[in-house]
Amino acid sequence: MNMSSSNIEYLLTAGDPSEVDALFAEARRLRDEVYGRRVFLRGLVEVSNHCLNNCLYCGIRRDMRCQRYRLTKEQILDCCRTGYGLVFRSFVLQGGEDAWMTDERVCDIVRSVKREFPDCAVTLSLGERGYESFARLREAGVDRYLLRHETADAGHYALLHPQEMSFDHRMQCLLDLRRLGFQVGCGFMVGSPGQTVETLKKDLAFIDEFRPEMVGIGPFIPAAGTPFENEPAGSVELTLRLLAIIRIIHPHVLLPATTALGTLHPTGRERAIRAGANVVMPNLSPQDTRALYSIYDNKLSTGSEAAETVADIRARMQAIGMEMPVDRGDFCLKQTP
Ligand code: SAM
Repeated sequence: MNMSSSNIEYLLTAGDPSEVDALFAEARRLRDEVYGRRVFLRGLVEVSNHCLNNCLYCGIRRDMRCQRYRLTKEQILDCCRTGYGLVFRSFVLQGGEDAWMTDERVCDIVRSVKREFPDCAVTLSLGERGYESFARLREAGVDRYLLRHETADAGHYALLHPQEMSFDHRMQCLLDLRRLGFQVGCGFMVGSPGQTVETLKKDLAFIDEFRPEMVGIGPFIPAAGTPFENEPAGSVELTLRLLAIIRIIHPHVLLPATTALGTLHPTGRERAIRAGANVVMPNLSPQDTRALYSIYDNKLSTGSEAAETVADIRARMQAIGMEMPVDRGDFCLKQTP
């Protein structure tokens, strides 16, 4: 399928449903060629909602007056134990940019997880750090790092973030992570305030050039109490088209059907899989802290048990003809036989 800049623009805005169906079919074909009809699970553990940043969109930004928490190493290990028993072989430890999460503490947590679950991949998503810090994390055994670039347009970045945050530094972090041998994930919100077709084209060009192992995109959802609380949510339809386009420009990428999609539409994640996604990230965080990690309003499955969530997702995936293997779900450059 033609992925020239003008065709991308056309596909993002086309009104003809048959064009959109053809886009999704091509994305599914390419995904199936590389990964088969398999959806990989990642167990998400929300380790801390403390954050020193003040991103204008985020419900756990520094200025939010909300109850803060951080999990102990033992709590994190307990989440992984539950997940391991439920077939997870990949854990994502995510949190705000929390100064308490020093290299020593994070490395200690990572080493403990790796010691107990040597067959599992560990992904961190703890925000920006320096090169030396990333190097220590890598040395401790971290396999992957998720750091959404948020937007590839510096002007748009400045609209979404306070002045003290730097677009160049965020991009530098992604380069550092790549250089250190992490599997790297970038990504952005769809429909964030100030986003245009032009900024989206820059995001796609960045993905095409950087070739990340993972791309996380999901609709922007307003969070009460933030400067963007009255902004409209991003479009599910546009998110699906972008997922398909990303799959086509980078067929090997690991592409999550994000919780934000499931939050905005009851079958948002199934629709994402039908548009070429191949990862789901159920929440393994303790039940009493889930509601506190409220990066946006009405976040999905804040109340349900991990086992319940996995059973629900498995049924949803089976209903659309996808399997969920017991697998780390590594980035793969080969095609399925
Ligand atoms: N602190 C880490 C970082 O900066 O990468 C990870 C945590 S941060 C809360 C994870 C992601 O949540 C962000 O990269 C952002 O894209 C997404 N996010 C934050 N607020 C959101 C909102 N209101 N709607 C949708 N996604 C949001």
